[in-house]
Amino acid sequence: GRPSCECNTCYGAPDCSIFFSNCTANAESGDPLFLEPYWEEHAASSAVVVAGWHRMSYSTTGENYITIELERHIRMLHFAVGNAVTDGRFIVFGAGSTQLLYALVHALAISHNSSLPASVVASVPYYAPYRGQTEFFDSKVAEWRGVTSEWVNSSKASSNKVIEFVTSPNNPDGLITQSVLNGSSSIHDHAYYWPHFTAITAPADEDVMIFTTSKLTGHAGSRFGWALIKDESVYNATVTYMEMNTMGASRDTQLRMLKLYKAMLAEIQREGDIFAFGYKTMRERWSKLNQVVSRSKRFSLQKMTSQYCNYFNTTRDPSPAYGWLKCEREEDRDCDAVLRAGGISGRSGTIFSGDQKHVRLSLIKSQDDFDQLLTKMAALVS
Ligand code: PMP
Repeated sequence: GRPSCECNTCYGAPDCSIFFSNCTANAESGDPLFLEPYWEEHAASSAVVVAGWHRMSYSTTGENYITIELERHIRMLHFAVGNAVTDGRFIVFGAGSTQLLYALVHALAISHNSSLPASVVASVPYYAPYRGQTEFFDSKVAEWRGVTSEWVNSSKASSNKVIEFVTSPNNPDGLITQSVLNGSSSIHDHAYYWPHFTAITAPADEDVMIFTTSKLTGHAGSRFGWALIKDESVYNATVTYMEMNTMGASRDTQLRMLKLYKAMLAEIQREGDIFAFGYKTMRERWSKLNQVVSRSKRFSLQKMTSQYCNYFNTTRDPSPAYGWLKCEREEDRDCDAVLRAGGISGRSGTIFSGDQKHVRLSLIKSQDDFDQLLTKMAALVS
């Protein structure tokens, strides 16, 4: 009965009935399969059948490769959740938010009149592709210039344009963050600003914001994200980037997204809606992981507090997407190696430009993945 007919690596046999107890628990990637059961429950209302002749064209109902109906539903969704202001904002669709990250770096970089490349920075620990993309694309207009803290109160900041990535809630540690540099342009990555993962305290209202369906509906494979942009010239520059790059997001993907968002919106704010499901799942995982970790002093997790959430109209417990685990013992210098020896693969803090004492554990994968993580963790602390 598995919808994807795929076992994770700890299971074998065509029906996944054999369990290999010596396998490694994989808590590495941010693959959001925790939402698969929700869509199993909504299989019919979320299904899309596309006839061969449908959506063949380059053109779309809206300008700049956008389907008007989908844009309308995205604005409705933000309004219903209360997590972002969309009035007076332009929207650009991308192949995942991954494509938009660099589109926005480029757009912000060229919208200032300087012959110097813009400096791209982020606060540690940060999502690695900000640096990875900036270095890989190696453009004349933007260069990676390290961590934000080095730019605070520094004369460096005034000499050329600074583009600051601000991730809130943050990946890897789930904390709410803000821009720290005055006078910089910031790209606010709100991939996790949904009630699954955090309290919605106010609609985000920054000039440049990024969202993704990957951590909202869980459809990471569809590659769909969007940017909300206040300034028209930054919007135009982003559209130009998309024109040069892919000529917009896949029309098939837009069709599927519309169907998913309609299904999601049809029961929003009702019992068992996608956020109630997501929050319940993630809160339970977070609480179980904490129970296990707190059995010894060997490891600790980031401290998170309950907060009032405007979406649920009540105080809610923490439910982050990742555990930011620390090895507390002096001798456990390389925490990732300690976990690997214990049969857990996470992501070393160094990947986030953090330290070796930390490891990110993904809590958003399938239930099997999480259960295996918990079992291995329990063995490690005992
Ligand atoms: N930003 C953050 C902070 C992320 O964690 C991720 C996915 N792990 C992305 C952006 C990219 O997601 P996608 O390209 O699937 O939209």
